[in-house]
Amino acid sequence: MNIQNIGVIGSGQMGGGIAQVFAAKGFHVSVLDINDEAVAKGKIQVEKNLARDVERGRLTAEGLKETMARISWSSEYSIFSGSDLVIEAATEDEDIKKSILRELCSVLPDHTLIASNTSSISITRLAAQTDRPGKFCGMHFMNPVPRMQLVELIRGIATDETTYQIVRELTDKLNKTAVNAEDFPAFIVNRILLPMINEAVYTLYEGVGSVSAIDTAMKLGTNHPMGPLELADFIGLDTCLAVMHVLHEGLADTKYRPCPLLVKYVEAGWLGRKTKRGFYDYSTNEPVPTR
Ligand code: NAD
Repeated sequence: MNIQNIGVIGSGQMGGGIAQVFAAKGFHVSVLDINDEAVAKGKIQVEKNLARDVERGRLTAEGLKETMARISWSSEYSIFSGSDLVIEAATEDEDIKKSILRELCSVLPDHTLIASNTSSISITRLAAQTDRPGKFCGMHFMNPVPRMQLVELIRGIATDETTYQIVRELTDKLNKTAVNAEDFPAFIVNRILLPMINEAVYTLYEGVGSVSAIDTAMKLGTNHPMGPLELADFIGLDTCLAVMHVLHEGLADTKYRPCPLLVKYVEAGWLGRKTKRGFYDYSTNEPVPTR
């Protein structure tokens, strides 16, 4: 199967990044978000990211124009009527993803494959919402998509081998490295990473260290490029909390209990960089620790 037209659902940090990398490799990309405002915001962000590449000499001004011209933007599902593969990258919420998938299937040609970029939710359960579980799999890109090398590929119980192989070959075409993960809550990367981030929030909650003490300790003490709280803000605290809920419920082990402070931040709408406040305040040039 020759995949040429890619659909992307969600134009947030991940959807925008996925659209950008496919368009940069010459694919035609159709991006959908919930309304015109969200679509416009996604488009501006992708253009900004590409403009930064031009500034740094990684892309020409002509290349920026050509990449943007390969991406179409809409809030109507009909945009996917010519897609060969649609990648779902909307908010990490199972009900939202399920309703998106049901709506999506009503407009898709029979041959179209569907992948989800979910960080944690069961691929088998999401696939069961579609009319094509054999043509469904997990394709978990890392953030930021243009810079990160890894893509986790996850088969649901019904995923056909051809679907998996096509998505694997596509990952190679993006010059990214695929790693197979089985369909267990949060797969490999987030099964390991999110409990560490959650523990960092507990460390803050219990007063063991301040935000900057925790991040500095982990950067200098374990050679991580970012501290865990800085990373949580980068991922999005809503996504971090959603992943902890999936781990807690899916594995039924109290060791995955989300930290109450993480819950409170999300309740306050302090979601990290994307809302300009999380464990750091991003309203000035230099992020300022909030605790
Ligand atoms: P985000 O908040 O930046 O973007 C989510 C987008 O989904 C928003 O633009 C929102 O308007 C859109 N959306 C919400 N409901 C929708 C609907 N009904 N129809 C269409 N669009 C809808 O979140 P993100 O960080 O881009 O995460 C998106 C997905 O990628 C999640 O499943 C997340 O778990 C996964 N993911 C995130 C990261 C990360 O580091 N943030 C890494 C890998 C995977």
